[in-house]
Amino acid sequence: MKITAIEACILTVAPPRPMALDFPHHTLVVAQIATDAGLQGLGYSLVFGGGGAESVLAYLETRLKPLLLGEDPLAVEKLWEKMYRGDRGVRRVGIAGMALSALDIGLWDIAGKAAELPLYKLWGAVRDSADCYGSGGWGSYTEKDLIGEAEHYAALGCRYYKMKIHHPDPEVNRKRVAAVKKALGPGVSMMVDVNQKLDLAGNIRQAALLEEFDLVWYEEPVNSDDNAACAEVAAAIRIPVATGENHYNRYEFRDLIERRAARYLMPDICRANGYSETLKIGHLAAAHGVRVTPHVVYELSVQVCGTLANGFLVELMDWMPPDLFEVLPQCVNGVIRIPERPGHGMVLAKGAVAKYRSG
Ligand SMILES: [Mg+2]
Repeated sequence: MKITAIEACILTVAPPRPMALDFPHHTLVVAQIATDAGLQGLGYSLVFGGGGAESVLAYLETRLKPLLLGEDPLAVEKLWEKMYRGDRGVRRVGIAGMALSALDIGLWDIAGKAAELPLYKLWGAVRDSADCYGSGGWGSYTEKDLIGEAEHYAALGCRYYKMKIHHPDPEVNRKRVAAVKKALGPGVSMMVDVNQKLDLAGNIRQAALLEEFDLVWYEEPVNSDDNAACAEVAAAIRIPVATGENHYNRYEFRDLIERRAARYLMPDICRANGYSETLKIGHLAAAHGVRVTPHVVYELSVQVCGTLANGFLVELMDWMPPDLFEVLPQCVNGVIRIPERPGHGMVLAKGAVAKYRSG
């Protein structure tokens, strides 16, 4: 089998309220890979909030796509290495990591279709569904927005809800968490996300105020480039730390693990160099008793949780319009059943490219 063409574009999608208060739109950099056997692979990188999508597309088109044309798409590992090592002066983090991710995801989609298996079974299944958590709780939400969203996820059966703690006053954050906790009751556990906004002292102060809520995790406490500071926070607070959505490869995750900087690692398949690298990160974490809870794109991430015994929750962000994908996996009783269609199972809906294409 040979790759005959790769069509790439940007889709721009507006999320509904209240998420749109923080993000007027998200973008997907999409790569549709065609083969001479008639099999097609869909890869995409979710560019959360949209910033940088044009650069991801440009790097994919000009630097990575030429490396794949004419190659056998089933040699996924070989092609990953080729893309990873293509430009010596460009590290596969940030923009380049996101571009590589989209193509790796598309290659695996072809591999699954060729094997006539969903990816989690191709890789060896450990479960056929993944527990999920409702995620959102953005900084611009009113308390009413927060509770409304949390109750929406609880009504879907989610037993976990994660909210942002972005207010500069830690006491305000405590009050917002308390209000949501009270509304949800004891059946729903909570997590909080700092999104890199605090330093060591700020995190110690904030986490101490949140101890009473028995939080599952405390996420991305410091600048994500600073693994040493993350490790200091992890050692200093009593709530388990989660991080990794802005880490891009096995080496960065190895450093987090060796420093004991987090009990939960959160690779993003669309950033961390695709399924290929995310699986390596997951197995590395398993060797250290660390759990993996992939960042967003739950519709793709469920495949990873389906094959990793140390896979924990996928992140349900309920924002995609119903006419973007043919079928979007749904949360039922807090659980997302992994698609049984060959590959990752995601197919763009008819007319989605025409409707959402931009740039
Ligand atoms: Mg986060």
